[in-house]
Order: sequence, then structure tokens, then C-alpha cells
Amino acid sequence: MVPPSKTNTIDFDAAKLQRLGFAGTRTPSLRPISLGQLRQQLNLQLQTSLEIEKILAVLFREVQRLIPLAALAYQQPASNLRLELGERATHSAGYHLSHEGEYLGELIFRRNLRFSDDELGQLESLLASLLFPLRNALLYRTALQSALRDPLTGTGNRIAMDQALQREVDLARRNLQPLSLLMIDIDHFKRINDSYGHSIGDEVLKAVAATLKGQLRNIDMVFRFGGEEFLILLSNTNREAAALVGERLRHGVLKLQCAVQEQVLELSVSLGCATLLPGESTDSLLRRADNALYVAKRDGRNRLTMAG
Ligand code: GH3
Ligand code: MG
Ligand code: MG
Repeated sequence: MVPPSKTNTIDFDAAKLQRLGFAGTRTPSLRPISLGQLRQQLNLQLQTSLEIEKILAVLFREVQRLIPLAALAYQQPASNLRLELGERATHSAGYHLSHEGEYLGELIFRRNLRFSDDELGQLESLLASLLFPLRNALLYRTALQSALRDPLTGTGNRIAMDQALQREVDLARRNLQPLSLLMIDIDHFKRINDSYGHSIGDEVLKAVAATLKGQLRNIDMVFRFGGEEFLILLSNTNREAAALVGERLRHGVLKLQCAVQEQVLELSVSLGCATLLPGESTDSLLRRADNALYVAKRDGRNRLTMAG
């Protein structure tokens, strides 16, 4: 059975904000004082964090003082955000949040009892308090992300890589799961720069990065390690599976059709692969992948070498 759901659109334009915030004409008859108090509370509390997770947790907790809820879900695909608080339930009230044309995401309240019209009115009224905290948190998140991204290729930068590598090594140890690492270097890249110029070289770098990301499930784990080198973290991936991924990436780059001056460039990459050993440090893991890459280059390039 498809659960009955209601979807509403809220465009927080100035007129609506005023109407929701102060006019009182649309204030539901049910417990109006509590609604006003709750709105005041929310206005204060939602401003106390710039983290979307915390803001939504406060909203979820506070709204339940007035309206019983089982769950709150939020998603903003453009920011790659998806959050679920509480437990799934049959009835839902969904809101498409936007402000002056700017899409702020989708918010869904759930519970096992149908929402009354009064409650929907209250929810809508309370959501006005979410607007600016949510928009600020999304901006903050974008700023944080751009500080961790390589501007040319859109992959993670070295700061992001160091953080992710340490986090993934810790997780792999704690959960006793395998972790593999691929170090990738474009073959004879200097020739491309020398033959066609640096800006064509940049375009090729972007195309290779896009190919690598396109072949992977978790594109957040691709990092630009150096000039024309990339590092890929494969969580919960053993040696054999990592070798398959590495070969897929190598073929992906070989098939890449990069045309310059009506000529298709011959592109290839060499790869070194290492899988975390028990008790191994991140430095040692990186070193082993780098050594394997060195062997792949030495043995003729356009190949994958597994670390010993
Ligand atoms: P190999 O197959 O041994 O890896 O040869 P290679 O030519 O790729 O390696 P080498 O290390 O000799 O040269 C790498 C070149 O990458 C040299 C450098 O100018 C170029 N490079 C590094 N960063 C960038 C960048 O951001 N843009 C461009 N266009 N070139 C870059
Ligand atoms: Mg290199
Ligand atoms: Mg190279």
C-alpha cells in the first residue's frame, strides 16, 4: 500500500515570511500560544549552529513539543545531502523549501497518524524559522567543501586527502574491514604540455579526473595528489576487488577520446595499488602504493601493479 502523503511547496518570499511570522491571521486555532512560544524558541535555537545535522536535530526535537512526529528526513541532492532522523512511518508531510528562487532542499515529516490540517498549518508556520539558519548552513557547507577541493579538477585536495585517509584507516581498523588505495599517474603528461600548451594540459587533467570519478561509486574519495597524480581510497575493498577497480579505471582512460587540433590524444595511466596491512601506518600504506606505481612506470606504463 502506498502511504498517503502530502507535499507542499513553501517559497519563503518576503510577503509569506511576514504572514507566517507576524500577521497572526493564519495562526491555527489549536494551542496558538504554544505555537508562538515554540516559534520564538526555534528562532533562537536554530541559530546556534551552522551544521545542518544539528539544526535539523533541534528542529525535530522542538517541533515534537507541539506536534507528535516519528521521523524527519531532509535531502538536498545538489549538495549531496541526505539525512534521516527517527523511524520510518506511514504518513508524511513533505515540503519543498526555497527562498527567492534558491532551492534549499526537501523536508519530510513522518508519523503513523495522519496529519491534521491544523498541524500542517503549524508545521508550515514553524518552518519559517528554519529558512535563514538552513540557508546559512548550506552556504557554510559549500564554503567548507570548496576549501577541501582542487579547483581545476573538482576532486579532493591534499587537505581533504589527509583527513579522509586517516579517517578511513581508523574505520578499517575498528571495523576489521579491508581498505585499498590506488595511486594513479598520467603517462607522459609532460609531452602533452610540451606539444599543445599548458591550458590543453589542464583540459586533459580535467577529462581524466572526470573519467576516474565517472567510474567510481563514491566520487568523494578521489583526490588530486600532485600535478598529474590522483589517489583513490577504496573503503571496504580487498586486494582482488581493488585490482578490478584499477583495471576498470585504466581502461576508462584508454577509451577517453580527447581531441586536440582534430587529433585524438593517446592517453593512458599507470597505477599502483596497496591494501592496508594489520597495524600499518598511513605513511607506509602510501609508500607501498607509490612504490607499486613506480614499478608500473618502470615496466612500461599503462599498467596496474599490486604492492607486495
Ligand atoms: P611519466 O609517464 O613518467 O609520469 O611522465 P610524465 O611526463 O607524466 O611525468 P613528469 O613528472 O615528467 O611530468 C609531469 C608534468 O605534469 C610536468 C608538469 O609540468 C605537469 N603538470 C603538473 N601540474 C600541472 C597542471 O596543473 N597543469 C598542467 N597543464 N600540467 C601540469
Ligand atoms: Mg607524476
Ligand atoms: Mg606522469
